[in-house]
Amino acid sequence: MAYLATPTATTEVIKKYGFNFQKKFGQNFLIDANILEKIVDSAEVTKDDCVIEIGPGIGTMTQYLAEHAREVVAVEIDKNLIPILKETLSEYDNVTIINEDILKVDINKLAEEKNGGRPIKVVANLPYYITTPIIMGLFESHVPLSSITIMVQKEVADRMQVGPGTKDYGALSLAVQYYAKPEIVVNVPPACFMPRPNVGSAVIRLTRFEEPPVKAQDEKKLFAIIRAAFNQRRKTLANALTNGLSYVDKEGKSIHVSRQEVCDVLDQMGLSATIRGEALTLEQFAHLSNML
Ligand code: SAM
Repeated sequence: MAYLATPTATTEVIKKYGFNFQKKFGQNFLIDANILEKIVDSAEVTKDDCVIEIGPGIGTMTQYLAEHAREVVAVEIDKNLIPILKETLSEYDNVTIINEDILKVDINKLAEEKNGGRPIKVVANLPYYITTPIIMGLFESHVPLSSITIMVQKEVADRMQVGPGTKDYGALSLAVQYYAKPEIVVNVPPACFMPRPNVGSAVIRLTRFEEPPVKAQDEKKLFAIIRAAFNQRRKTLANALTNGLSYVDKEGKSIHVSRQEVCDVLDQMGLSATIRGEALTLEQFAHLSNML
């Protein structure tokens, strides 16, 4: 089977199977071989690696991954794509196709079965409607993984990279930077996809830290605080946490904080009582979480 990363080859497959693109699944297939090469190169896929691909589509990137990796597991939700994938990937004996919603797959179990629990790599041109739950699910479930290299909406890639004091800074930036080092690999214009999306895209590589860069005594509490701070980002941190923090601790006790408590801790940290969450670094959030 020829490579699919051209407009002609993709159109041929689509026609042959009478495939209809489904918007609800975020189906924009890559038709640019240079971008595919950049993705696979920056993911540093080798013959030692087991790669999980989320949403293989018609198998365009899967072909490249199969050639570079020891093993590829491709999880595709759309049952109409399964017969297509069986044909486009028929030459490769190192690819397993799973017809399932990635959010329902037990990736820990998969990593255990396919890679003996050693770190896997995730490489994907993600369906944009569920970018955040996919990334957070991978990190929070502590799947053994070394890196995630993904195509996402450009704006979302920017959000993952920025620090305090910018409008894009938020809960996603902090969560990503707690677990991984983010690096934008390349910006990708709409013309590299079929059909063309309405937004610009970017490939970002998230390299998993062995240890988080800050010490949080209770990760769940840290993220509950971060979420509360950005749910009401125009409010001061003290107000946002007083009204919005809902968190159940390790003993099952529901936790709330008073305004005074937050202000006291901010004071001890040398921060103003009127500071907003968007001004705090990850380190300061971790400190606040440990002290509250
Ligand atoms: N990898 C292909 C490529 O680069 O051309 C297709 C990428 S397309 C942006 C996203 C793919 O994810 C589609 O094939 C879509 O059907 C699939 N998808 C959408 N939601 C999914 C989910 N919840 N679980 C698994 N796959 C999903």
